[in-house]
Amino acid sequence: MVQSDTPSGGQPHRTVLPQAKAYQFVDHTFDVVVVGAGGSGLRATLGAAQAGLKTACITKVFPTRSHTVAAQGGVAASLGNMGKDDWRWHMYDTVKGSDWLGDQDAIEYLVREAPAAVYELEHFGVPFSRTEDGRIYQRPFGGMTTEFGEGPAAQRTCAAADRTGHAILHTLYGQSLRYSSEFFIEYFAIDLIMDEEGACRGVVALCMDDGTLHRFRAKKTILATGGYGRAYFSATSAHTCTGDGNAMVLRAGLPLQDMEFVQFHPTGIYGAGCLITEGARGEGGYLTNSEGERFMERYAPSAKDLASRDVVSRSMTMEIREGRGVGKNKDHIFLHLDHLDPKILAERLPGISESARIFAGVDVTREPIPVLPTVHYNMGGIPTNYHGEVLTKKNGNADTVVPGLMAVGEAACVSVHGANRLGSNSLIDLVVFGRAAALRCAETVAAGESHEPLPADAGDNSLARLDRFRHASGGTSTAELRDRMQRTMQSNCAVFRTGEVLEEGHTKIHEVWHGSEDIAVKDRSLVWNTDLIETLEYDNLISQAVVTMDSALARQESRGAHAREDFPDRDDQNWMKHTLSFCDTVNKTITLDDRPVHTYTLSNQIEYIKPKKRVY
Ligand SMILES: Cc1cc2nc3c(=O)[nH]c(=O)nc-3n(C[C@H](O)[C@H](O)[C@H](O)COP(=O)(O)OP(=O)(O)OC[C@H]3O[C@@H](n4cnc5c(N)ncnc54)[C@H](O)[C@@H]3O)c2cc1C
Repeated sequence: MVQSDTPSGGQPHRTVLPQAKAYQFVDHTFDVVVVGAGGSGLRATLGAAQAGLKTACITKVFPTRSHTVAAQGGVAASLGNMGKDDWRWHMYDTVKGSDWLGDQDAIEYLVREAPAAVYELEHFGVPFSRTEDGRIYQRPFGGMTTEFGEGPAAQRTCAAADRTGHAILHTLYGQSLRYSSEFFIEYFAIDLIMDEEGACRGVVALCMDDGTLHRFRAKKTILATGGYGRAYFSATSAHTCTGDGNAMVLRAGLPLQDMEFVQFHPTGIYGAGCLITEGARGEGGYLTNSEGERFMERYAPSAKDLASRDVVSRSMTMEIREGRGVGKNKDHIFLHLDHLDPKILAERLPGISESARIFAGVDVTREPIPVLPTVHYNMGGIPTNYHGEVLTKKNGNADTVVPGLMAVGEAACVSVHGANRLGSNSLIDLVVFGRAAALRCAETVAAGESHEPLPADAGDNSLARLDRFRHASGGTSTAELRDRMQRTMQSNCAVFRTGEVLEEGHTKIHEVWHGSEDIAVKDRSLVWNTDLIETLEYDNLISQAVVTMDSALARQESRGAHAREDFPDRDDQNWMKHTLSFCDTVNKTITLDDRPVHTYTLSNQIEYIKPKKRVY
């Protein structure tokens, strides 16, 4: 593992930066540069290095601290270890879960590749929980069924107790180190390097440790920077989930897709926001209101507590609104595990038992856990095809590939999750599309191929932006702006939406955006300047918050996670299309456009699944 190199291959370059605006780049050249070391970034890094490509992985946190480490419940694949299963049923459930906004060619690719991807993880060394006869243990998860929705719940979610993401991330990092990929750890990627033809030529990054600035040249740049949950006040995601890659794409003049679709997980711990996995309900947990009623039986008579996340979150919100919330302020709901065998809890849900004790002061074997729907996942992101190639709209063609640029993981919108992701379908998305992107690189890049010289001004824009924030001397702190953004998103772009509330949200969030002109950064150094890094992250978040709000205001229907009280029905005639949002970050304007949903499959082994009403 090399921490840094120079073109001459000499000693790591250390630039002593004067306070003046003179910045120098350290240049690097790779075949492939991956930004992000979560599950998707590591799987892509590993695959590209395995194919003999000179590969770098840049990450702002140590790889095993990426948010993937927090994933609890499991990873979906139709192994059929605990009952009959079929990839076609997994496909049906995913299409239905997506409320028919997912691209069916990409969904077919995901679910067909899923079993092989899980066996690959097993062979890499992921310590999955086991059945009596030694197979990978699988639990039921929301929206996962058999017989095309007609049969009983499927046990499809492969788990390593309730620490599946932890097990996967550590295993993938270990495997990555077997190959000659180079890790640039605690490097903060600032912006893409785009050329005049609109191709991506690499990325600019700041080494947070010593303040040096780096230009990474690559034939393919793969963004694996995760979601942007931190645009909201209460989120299950880590504080590092600021969607930096998404914002870099917006600044490059490229679109983001379906940003109005934000998933609220039904069971965030009340107050703290940290997650209690859906696996808790998979193991038999259930929700009650102030009357002790298992209310999900009314909202989803067959799937009950295991209906998909948008449905459960909305039902909980309705109960609270109608005065049946629990607690002093009647503003949350109870999740019961206290009827389950303490041995099962200790074996299958040890992590959440601990979280409940620490963050809610609750002993799960005796008392219910106070929970509330909490922002959890971004279905929207950087539009790609199922090879991981980034798409934009050019001359009316919304499937135009952007040369040199790819995206995977939660940052990408392939789109397999459409308007609502099923639990355990993200971890599988990470490894299937991380691998697919690496395979695409192997197909399209010759190892060691020479690079065209970079444009003369490559990276200058990023330096100007960095320098502007570094010396920003306005009157409003980053923390204050961030707080206003997060509260606006939480109250005006939440589980239920109306035109009026969104209009107000639009006004407020644009005000916060304009307020960024007055931002203040106190620390002027470049070495471990957390004030500056948080400001760059805030600036990334606010552009995504604005496109999320504006996309939500524009979509006049209810679909998946986007529930408009003023337009309660899904409207396939007018709205079965992806939203594309472009953002002019200089003039602070948003332009919306659209992209057709792929209503075809990849092979003739399954037919296009036609839209119908989504009930559980
Ligand atoms: C608490 C929790 C539990 C979950 N449980 C499950 C589950 O059980 N099953 C499931 O399927 N899904 C689950 N999910 C969702 C799933 O875990 C995430 O969607 C997924 O892990 C995201 O992985 P990723 O590879 O896209 O990015 P992440 O794991 O978020 O990693 C992002 C990477 O990008 C790097 N990065 C970001 N910005 C920069 C920058 N500017 N410069 C350099 N590097 C950068 C970071 O350092 C990091 O390495 C859960 C999510 C949460 C929050």
